[in-house]
Amino acid sequence: MPSLLDEKVSPIYQEVLARNPGETEFHQAAREVLESLGPVLVKHPEFAQHKIIERICEPERQIIFRVPWRDDKGEVQINRGFRVEFNSALGPYKGGLRFHPSVYLGIIKFLGFEQIFKNALTGLPIGGGKGGSDFDPKGKSDDEVMSFCQSFMTELYRHIGEHTDVPAGDIGVGGREIGYMFGQYKRITNRWEAGVLTGKGLDWGGSLVRTEATGYGAVFFVDEMLKARKDTFEGKICSVSGSGNVAIYTTEKIHQLGGKVVTCSDSNGYIYDEKGIDLALMQQLKEVERRRIKDYTQYRKHAKYIAKGNIWEVPCQVAMPSATQNEINGADAAMLVKNGCIAVGEGANMPTTPEGVKVFLEAQIAYGPGKAANAGGVATSALEMQQNAERNSWTFDHTEKRLQEIMRNIHELCYETSIEYGTPGNYVNGANIAGFIRVAKAMVAFGVV
Ligand code: GLU
Repeated sequence: MPSLLDEKVSPIYQEVLARNPGETEFHQAAREVLESLGPVLVKHPEFAQHKIIERICEPERQIIFRVPWRDDKGEVQINRGFRVEFNSALGPYKGGLRFHPSVYLGIIKFLGFEQIFKNALTGLPIGGGKGGSDFDPKGKSDDEVMSFCQSFMTELYRHIGEHTDVPAGDIGVGGREIGYMFGQYKRITNRWEAGVLTGKGLDWGGSLVRTEATGYGAVFFVDEMLKARKDTFEGKICSVSGSGNVAIYTTEKIHQLGGKVVTCSDSNGYIYDEKGIDLALMQQLKEVERRRIKDYTQYRKHAKYIAKGNIWEVPCQVAMPSATQNEINGADAAMLVKNGCIAVGEGANMPTTPEGVKVFLEAQIAYGPGKAANAGGVATSALEMQQNAERNSWTFDHTEKRLQEIMRNIHELCYETSIEYGTPGNYVNGANIAGFIRVAKAMVAFGVV
């Protein structure tokens, strides 16, 4: 394990381990935040007195439920559904739903925990939560996805609401799934309640820029880190992993800013296109036809498909992991740095292992951890909620400007906090500490609740 835990924080972490056995991703996410918090307790003894860290590590509510549905053959299938309502100090629980076979309580808790601090960094009134299911949308028909989503919402609806808990998308949950769930919520409750879900379609309460927001926001964040080092994206070779919503719009924005993205990937392998990824082709394959990225080489003959390869072996100056957790380990991080990587912006949640984070921090490259770099998605969800509340919809330009302003503010807050706490340029500390302090202050104000 990388750095040490402060002596006041260490027993709290031991308690997290003991109370949450087997939830390794949650342990990792909790440890990563707790490692930053020792100096905060020195400056703010009231947080220790009120046991704020202990309270933050315990979700306010955890819901686990059965999701029965019928597949196309008429057979009954059973999945497990989750919603972890982690912290509502700053607003209604807010965070996505992940549908992926790897989902279990430990994954949802790591995501929900990260979401608390990420959402706090946006400065918008949103608490932290996360949910999902071990349902695998891969290879399922539209009917099967609808049947699953309806069953999932038939339980979830009683726990959510515009002032209570507002789910959205994550891996495996996009516009199609949000549509089926919104439809079922409306049917059960007899309420056209736009504010209950975000990531909605543009004709029924959605916000422009929400689809692009996580990717665009991550690129804006890296752009700010580069600017702080008197550099830009112009002419940079960039490596992006993944081929979902985050990867697609990360690639688009990098190309707009003059960089060149040469990779994309899925769980089977990666594409290397030295001329730069053809975004229209990637969108057609992934968003429209829901195909695997190996088919990319059928249309771009010079591009290479490397099955089961390691995408981080491709030399790049900027790396933007946009697939999933723990996709960059210590050796991958060392290889990136050795090959000339100067900036990393995490579009995915916790894509770098603790060993990898240590490598980036020691090399003093510009490293933007997910809870800061990918906060643009949830921030734009909060903008969608604002538009819903005023029964209004903003233009693309206006919404994108708001997103850019929010990412700039998050960068500044993390940077300033990293200086205040004696680790200038360490965005891990900056993000953890700044996010924590916002939540902690509200919790102190509310008393023991
Ligand atoms: N799933 C996204 C995240 O990891 C977005 C959540 C939301 O919009 O509520 O932050």
